[in-house]
Amino acid sequence: MLKQVAEGVLIHESEFCQSNAVVVQGRAGVLLIDPGVQDHEMACLANDLRELSQPVVAGFSTHPHWDHLLWHAQLGAAPRYGTARCAATVRDQLSDPGAKARITAHLLETGIAEQVPLDLLGLITALPAETAQIPWDGPQVRIIEHQAHAPGHAALFIEERGVLVAGDMLSDVLTPMLDLNGTADPIEDYLAALRLLEGVAGDVDVLVPGHGAIGGADQVHARIDQDRAYVHALRDAHAPSDPRIGPSAKPGWEWVSDVHNGQAQRLARRSERDGTPG
Ligand SMILES: [Zn+2]
Repeated sequence: MLKQVAEGVLIHESEFCQSNAVVVQGRAGVLLIDPGVQDHEMACLANDLRELSQPVVAGFSTHPHWDHLLWHAQLGAAPRYGTARCAATVRDQLSDPGAKARITAHLLETGIAEQVPLDLLGLITALPAETAQIPWDGPQVRIIEHQAHAPGHAALFIEERGVLVAGDMLSDVLTPMLDLNGTADPIEDYLAALRLLEGVAGDVDVLVPGHGAIGGADQVHARIDQDRAYVHALRDAHAPSDPRIGPSAKPGWEWVSDVHNGQAQRLARRSERDGTPG
């Protein structure tokens, strides 16, 4: 079911990890950001769009993680964009013939493996590096690319609607998950990304995280501050006081504490090895 969050901007929420697919209405059809996860949910979304006579004219994946790279045949054959780094990362991943089998193995733990169609996974068209806006016939969608959660991760800012689509940043249920593979300073990368998002925060009325609850204007700075405090705690090897982990985690999100412990351990090993924090 589609829910309007701003004029011409609608959300379709998945049962899986409260994932948010975002629909932006343009002149001749819609832009679809991170389409969703389960087969029946994407089919439902395609059906809703057909009833509204709104074909998908462009797609966008915020980053190269499987749950943001899916597609359904009924959504049509529009180009599915991503940043150049996102597309290159996906191409790399999929050049490994075992990649989809590994995703399926991971999905078996979630219990939804049979509901996730992988045939159209990751067919991303690279936008040239430094592309500032999504090329499409609709409201301007600014690409805010940064290195934080994943290579080529992008938030999208639809300024005339006051909507920030944050990808896997600024969630009320997920703590920051850093990209610890192949970046020299994941802590500083993440803090720099938060500063970039802070740069537009004053113009945001609606914050849409990749997973979790939609936030209003009052939530934008609060979530940036919360994520920054978490990353500072990681940097300083302190136990973060963060409502998203430990006993205050929302029901169903207890596993976020395990993710936190895992990344704190990896960072500790890293700083032992390098002799530098982070
Ligand atoms: Zn992700």
